[in-house]
Amino acid sequence: KLGNETAKAELGRATWKYFHTVMARFPEKPTEDQQDALRSYIHLFARLYPCGECAEHFQKHLNKYPPQVSSRSAAAGWACFIHNEVNAMLNKPEFDCNDLGSFYDCGCTDDEDAGEG
Ligand code: FAD
Repeated sequence: KLGNETAKAELGRATWKYFHTVMARFPEKPTEDQQDALRSYIHLFARLYPCGECAEHFQKHLNKYPPQVSSRSAAAGWACFIHNEVNAMLNKPEFDCNDLGSFYDCGCTDDEDAGEG
């Protein structure tokens, strides 16, 4: 467990940025294999998250709200929702998931899956 609140918040911001970017880049029409990969990834991500207390909370959120992996918009919407669950737990304002738009564009126009990127 990271004792330092500043370090914990910094890790959280960097991680959320990465997490939402993964969802924004997930295929619009994923294969079964890609859906399985995302589902497994999210569960392992939660299990291995370096802040132990956070990992414990997040795994409980996951049990309650299983990952949605049927499409990019389902995955991005789910991730926004689950981040809002964490926001609520920490008394932070709710993020409007309709505002996701191109918020997490990474500029990765280097492959076929780039979609709108
Ligand atoms: P953050 O919540 O880090 O968000 C960063 C930015 O993302 C925001 O400024 C906003 O632009 C955007 N954003 C906000 N909400 C959403 C959303 N719903 N969807 C998309 N984008 C959004 N901290 C604890 O103290 N206890 C915990 O148990 C805990 N558990 C965590 C579990 C996980 C998996 C992660 C990744 C982090 C956890 N954290 C926890 C850290 C916490 O969520 C924040 O990252 C940290 O407190 C910094 O908050 P922040 O206000 O800078 O914004």
